[in-house]
Amino acid sequence: MEFRLQQDNENIIRELCRSGRVPHTVIIEGGEKDERDSAAVLLAAGAVCKEKERPCLTCTACHKVIENHHPDVFLPEPSKNLKSGILSLKDLRDDYLSQMSIKPNEADCKVYIFRDADRLLREDSQNALLKTIEEPPQNLLFIFTAESAKSMLLTVRSRARIITLHHRENSDEDSERLAEEIIDGIVLMYEYDLLRTLSALNDKESLGSALTVFSDKLRQALSFYSGIKTDDAAVKKLTRKLDRSRAIALIEVTSDAVRRLKTNVNIQLLTTWLSSQYRRITWQK
Ligand SMILES: [Zn+2]
Repeated sequence: MEFRLQQDNENIIRELCRSGRVPHTVIIEGGEKDERDSAAVLLAAGAVCKEKERPCLTCTACHKVIENHHPDVFLPEPSKNLKSGILSLKDLRDDYLSQMSIKPNEADCKVYIFRDADRLLREDSQNALLKTIEEPPQNLLFIFTAESAKSMLLTVRSRARIITLHHRENSDEDSERLAEEIIDGIVLMYEYDLLRTLSALNDKESLGSALTVFSDKLRQALSFYSGIKTDDAAVKKLTRKLDRSRAIALIEVTSDAVRRLKTNVNIQLLTTWLSSQYRRITWQK
């Protein structure tokens, strides 16, 4: 599967793994669906990883979890004969419940990840799992993911550790808006505004996304010089202000900044540097 988890959410899961007190039943709620799924995989990897610093995501066990073929990590899928994304009670019993007391193959524990558990497991299935949740055999980890833990039965919920993920802060719309603010700062020569916009982006992820959108608009400006029309108002603004060589120079420093964001760079120093580069390129004669 694709592993997609923003840093703060990854930290929540790693913190839980590090604490060494992973409970038998965890409900992962909040965030986006792909984040919940990735968080569940990370937690499962933490449970079966063979390294000291778990999950390492590089050992064979971790790889098997990520690629979904670890013999001790199970991802029950909806029943094939049902259309609605539900795992039938019969399939739950036959394929999973009946095997739960069998010892793990190669890890220290067995992990069951019930994705979208509120939809996958109807009340009867959640009740069927309840006995195991109440008196779990040694070395069994249940991970449920749901948009909200409240959509699970209270009896299940009350025995689980609920982990709430953060929502992604920088949506595409935010990055678009921030890129436009950078463009305004450049075009209108409001140096103070430019620096303020860049400094307000004080996490690497939002800054990286905004700069990537900005870069993309600069490239569209380049296409405009080559005769390709654009409907993007921000791109039009750029083309009125910048010539081709300045646009290229801006793309270069922006790419450089995006590259440096992936290193251990100090973000304040980087935005100050970037702002001075933008000023130099745009305003010099
Ligand atoms: Zn590992």
